[in-house]
Amino acid sequence: MKNLFPTEKFANIRTPFYYYDTRILRQTLEAINAETRQHDNYFVHYAVKANANPKILKIINEYGLGIDCVSGGEIEQVLACGFPANKIVFAGVGKSDWEIELGLDNDIFCFNVESIPELEIINQIAASKGKKATVCFRINPNVGAHTHANITTGLAENKFGIAMEDMERVIRLAQSMDNIAFKGLHFHIGSQILDMDDFIALANRINALQDRLESQGFHPEIINVGGGLGIDYSDPLAHPIPDFKAYFDTYTQYLHLRPGQTVHFELGRAVVGQCGALITRVNYVKQGAAKQFAIVDAGMTDLIRPALYDAHHKTYNLSSDQPAEVYDVVGPICESSDVFDQDILLNRTQRGDLIAMLSAGAYGEIMASGYNCRRLPIGYTSDEL
Ligand SMILES: *Cc1c(COP(=O)(O)O)cnc(C)c1O
Repeated sequence: MKNLFPTEKFANIRTPFYYYDTRILRQTLEAINAETRQHDNYFVHYAVKANANPKILKIINEYGLGIDCVSGGEIEQVLACGFPANKIVFAGVGKSDWEIELGLDNDIFCFNVESIPELEIINQIAASKGKKATVCFRINPNVGAHTHANITTGLAENKFGIAMEDMERVIRLAQSMDNIAFKGLHFHIGSQILDMDDFIALANRINALQDRLESQGFHPEIINVGGGLGIDYSDPLAHPIPDFKAYFDTYTQYLHLRPGQTVHFELGRAVVGQCGALITRVNYVKQGAAKQFAIVDAGMTDLIRPALYDAHHKTYNLSSDQPAEVYDVVGPICESSDVFDQDILLNRTQRGDLIAMLSAGAYGEIMASGYNCRRLPIGYTSDEL
């Protein structure tokens, strides 16, 4: 499909590479701000694990979003890109001592704590620095998200968070610690969630937990509902901007807040997913016994989502307007899972054609690896090409 992308600008760029349409990114950020503007107690933290490309981060920072980090490396990256430390929340089941120190040294907004042993270490390290660490507890709400098993995080069987039955005990413990300031509750049930009923289930669960806490005299200030809003992978051209209205309206309607509470959101995929595409070139078209393969120069090292999550990225041939044929699009790596998609329609394809895999802005470039000693793909924005 010609004219979908400015292919003439791609001619001299080494493939595979990521291409980020900053117009879509900016429209997405404007849509988020349009929905949250009327709520002065709503705060959106971009989940930087979805995409940490500095060019993308700088644009996100222009729109005033906070940040959700899950590692010390992410904290370093966002500080280097100009995000204020007091808008950083820091989650993760296995924070290392140096990561906790980094968070404390920079006075980040909040640690989202996932266990008692972690709480004890944060208290200890904060004491050694003469500081008080602000913490929320990540509670495992045992709410299932109707999404792929590898990206479901809110079930009792998952490794994440503190069990609901331990909540009061952990809060009491925190309140007894000199170098911990308990501030609230954190949740995150999974990713690529398109059914608002899953968020309603989370809101209902939070309401019940809040009632329980209130009856015992606990008053959390922060309610962090995590992220997880999905994007339309099957028709990104029709739906480049996720339905933020439905998402925020769901929480506005179903989450019952106490006076003075702030609500924090941690959106990753929904912010950056649709602005990015992986651009790759066809090396060979091979006629197999039963199949026709388009062998491209990108592999699972560049975009691992199909291999890891059975994901499908809408794929177009940017160099051809000839009648469509059926192809398996595969990479060059010596792994049977190095398959992008099977039995899909592409305009008739030949060696040298440029192929675009859409909706690759989230968990794409950031998950690239050097397996097979492959070069890492470079990310370019539409502003610089
Ligand atoms: C991954 C993650 C997010 C973001 O998830 P998305 O599905 O990309 O919105 C938010 N919060 C936490 C704690 C996470 O681990």
